[in-house]
Amino acid sequence: DSIGEAMTTPVHKNASIASALRTEPKYLHLKHVQEQLSRSGLTLPYFLVHEGASNNTTVIEGRELINFASYNYLALSGDPETSAYAKSAIDRFGTSVSASRVASGEIALHQDLERELSEFLGVPDCLLHVSGHATNVGTIGHLFDHRDIIFHDSFIHNSVIEGCKLSGAQRIAFPHNDAREANRLIDAHRGTYRHALIVLEGVYSVDGDIADLPRFIELKKRYNAFLMVDEAHSLGVLGERGRGIGEHFAVDRADVDLWMGTLSKALGSCGGYIAGDKELIGYLKYTSPAFVFSVGMPPATTAAALAALRILVRQPERVHTLHERGRLFLELAKARGLDTGISLDTAIVPVITGDSVIAVKLADALAEKGINVQPIVYPAVAKDSARLRFFIAADHTIEQIRHTVDATGEALARLRSKGVAP
Ligand code: PMP
Repeated sequence: DSIGEAMTTPVHKNASIASALRTEPKYLHLKHVQEQLSRSGLTLPYFLVHEGASNNTTVIEGRELINFASYNYLALSGDPETSAYAKSAIDRFGTSVSASRVASGEIALHQDLERELSEFLGVPDCLLHVSGHATNVGTIGHLFDHRDIIFHDSFIHNSVIEGCKLSGAQRIAFPHNDAREANRLIDAHRGTYRHALIVLEGVYSVDGDIADLPRFIELKKRYNAFLMVDEAHSLGVLGERGRGIGEHFAVDRADVDLWMGTLSKALGSCGGYIAGDKELIGYLKYTSPAFVFSVGMPPATTAAALAALRILVRQPERVHTLHERGRLFLELAKARGLDTGISLDTAIVPVITGDSVIAVKLADALAEKGINVQPIVYPAVAKDSARLRFFIAADHTIEQIRHTVDATGEALARLRSKGVAP
């Protein structure tokens, strides 16, 4: 019998997932970079402990640094009003809603946030999830299947790719922000699928550029496809009032089927939303596994996002200041001859170094000068496209920006003169 057979099979006592990983290319590359750095006396500058709120400054190992490594674009995390509202929600509702909202975890704060966020976005309805990542994975994975095809930007966030994998749909990446090439690919696959979905980001976080949304809306209409836009880095950032890429291009909000966003960046909290047509959202509310089988958003994080949203509605000047600071950083960096790639007027400016080790060394040199900025290296970007990524926020001062761009230019020049950088 099968148990008898199993008893005669040799036992591999040493099998472990860790040992299986040792032949994985991504694992080997990580080890390679770590070894190279440790030979230069450096360690990967990740998982650094921040000793307080991450605003325009942050404290790491007792040192206050100018901070360009947080998505706190509008300085709404750490804002006294946001914090006070979150605390009052804990006092009233406790620290967890302790159940899925469908079952017994619903509180009025959830409904208030969904209503006010929908109004803000100019869409009929929306549904909150406990994280932005879960929103993308869960929604795409739930709505599409093997009969469908998903075209996404080649720079799309991991959560969209994981959602595509979960769905089982055919997945095709088109070259970054290239509507013409996307058109060719969709055309080439005509007749092979049930539904086609096109997925974009409002602002791409690796390069700080903006999706060519009007062209992709034309494409959606031409091929009767669905369109999804991830607004993680465009909500609170693009448009005069921070209402995102829809406001930036003044498009009809109904031309996008799925508006997705996170509460963890401009809204200073944690969680994600999917927004769109009432019937669609009503369906997801009862059927989407990531929503139905997961706890409702905690009271404090819901209240924090709601307070932040209300401040954003009341104080659009925060958005104006963010635009001015972003523009200043980009102009100064370009004037210094730094390679900012295709970054546009957003809150993200990369400084491209090419090689991974150089990116890490530049970040290290800037930390010495009192500036906190994260390098991004392979596999997050192509091997020859490593960079520092500066996240600009409305509370950065003009002086902090000038000082940082100067320090970056000088540190890179010093690395180059030592023959470290190309
Ligand atoms: N989409 C994009 C484009 C993102 O950048 C991120 C987070 N970096 C997410 C989704 C996931 O959001 P969250 O961190 O809120 O889970």
